[in-house]
Amino acid sequence: MKPNLRNFDLEEIRNFLKDLGEPSYRGDQVYHWITCKAALTFEEMTNLPKNLRKELDKHFSLSLPEIMELQADEEGTTKFALKLEDGEIIETVLIPERDHFTLCVSTQVGCAMGCTFCLTAKSGFKRNLEVYEIISQVIIAKRYLKEKGVELPLRNIVFMGMGEPLANYKNLIKALKILEDKRGFNFSRKRLTVSTAGLVEKIYELAKDFPTALALSLHAPNDELRKKLMPVAKKYSLKDLIQALKAFPRVKNGRHTIEYVLIKDVNDSLIHAEELARLFKKLPVKINLIPFNPHPELPYERPEEEKILAFQKHLLSHGILTTVRKSKGLKISAACGQLRRRVIEKVLTPDTCDLKTAVRTGAVL
Ligand code: SF4
Repeated sequence: MKPNLRNFDLEEIRNFLKDLGEPSYRGDQVYHWITCKAALTFEEMTNLPKNLRKELDKHFSLSLPEIMELQADEEGTTKFALKLEDGEIIETVLIPERDHFTLCVSTQVGCAMGCTFCLTAKSGFKRNLEVYEIISQVIIAKRYLKEKGVELPLRNIVFMGMGEPLANYKNLIKALKILEDKRGFNFSRKRLTVSTAGLVEKIYELAKDFPTALALSLHAPNDELRKKLMPVAKKYSLKDLIQALKAFPRVKNGRHTIEYVLIKDVNDSLIHAEELARLFKKLPVKINLIPFNPHPELPYERPEEEKILAFQKHLLSHGILTTVRKSKGLKISAACGQLRRRVIEKVLTPDTCDLKTAVRTGAVL
C-alpha cells in the first residue's frame, strides 16, 4: 500500500521531492496543495509539471476516509461517521460558533479509558489513529464547508472526539505540529485544544514538547467519586493532576479548561459544586459544565435544568468562570460514540438502506 502523503510534515515532503530530483520549492507547492487547498488528487496540482504529478501518484496516496454518514441539525452542528481504510469507523463533529467553526476530532478508534458515562468506552479500544487519519478529519471538514459555500472559517480544533489523545502521543504531537505550521494549515496554537482524562506523565511531556490549550476531563470533585466514574483515577490522584495542571503553560486566555459532565444524582449536588469550587478557587481555570446526554446503553440521566443552573451559580459565586455547554446536536446522536455505534449497527444489518445514496441525496441531512 502506498503511504499517505498527509502523514508527513513539510521537511519530509521536501526530502521526498529532493529524492525525485526536484528543487525544494516543489515540496512547498505540494504541501500547500495538501493543506491549504485540501487537494484530493495530484492531478489538481496544476502548478506542478505533469510528469511530477504522475510520479507522486506512483509513490503516495492522498486518499481520505469515506463519509459513511453525516447528520446536521438546524443550527449547523454536523457529525461525520468516517470509514477508515481498514473498515474501522470514527466520528468527527463540526460545531458552528458565532464567527467561526470548531472541529472536534478523534485520535483513536475506540478508547481504553473506560469512563462509565461514555458510549465509546463500551466498544473498547481498537487502535491509534495515524497522523494522516487525524489530519484527514480536518480536510474533510474544510472541504465540506467549502462545498456548502459556508464563509465562516474553521478556526478551532479540539482533540475531544473518540479516544484519549495523550495515549496516542507521538501521532498527536506530529499532527499538532502540522496543523500549526504557518506554511500550511496555520492554526494558532491557542486554538488547538488537547483534552485528557488525566494521564499525568503525558501532561508534563506535552507541556515540554508542544504546549497547547489544555482541557482536563475531571467529572468528579473528589478521588472517591472520580474512581467510580473514570478508572484512570485509580492511577492518578486529583492532587497529582492539579499539580500537573499548575505546571502546564497557559496558552489560552491564561486559563485551563476543566470539563465536567453533570450527571443526575451522581455529581450534580451543591456539595459537589462546593468541593469543585474549593479545588479550583485559586487556579485560573474555566469550568465547562456538560449536561449528560442520555443513551439507553448508559445507566445515567441528565439533571433537571434548575439543578444545572444552581450548580453553575454556585461556582460563579466563588468567582470561578463557569459555562454550561449548549446541547448542540442533541437530536443528532451527539454524545461521543453514538453516531459511530448507529452506523456500525446499520452496516451490520443486512437490510440496511444504502447509506451512501442517503448521504448523496441529502436524506440524512
Ligand atoms: S470520555 Fe473520553 S477518555 Fe473517557 S472513555 Fe470516552 S473517549 Fe475515552
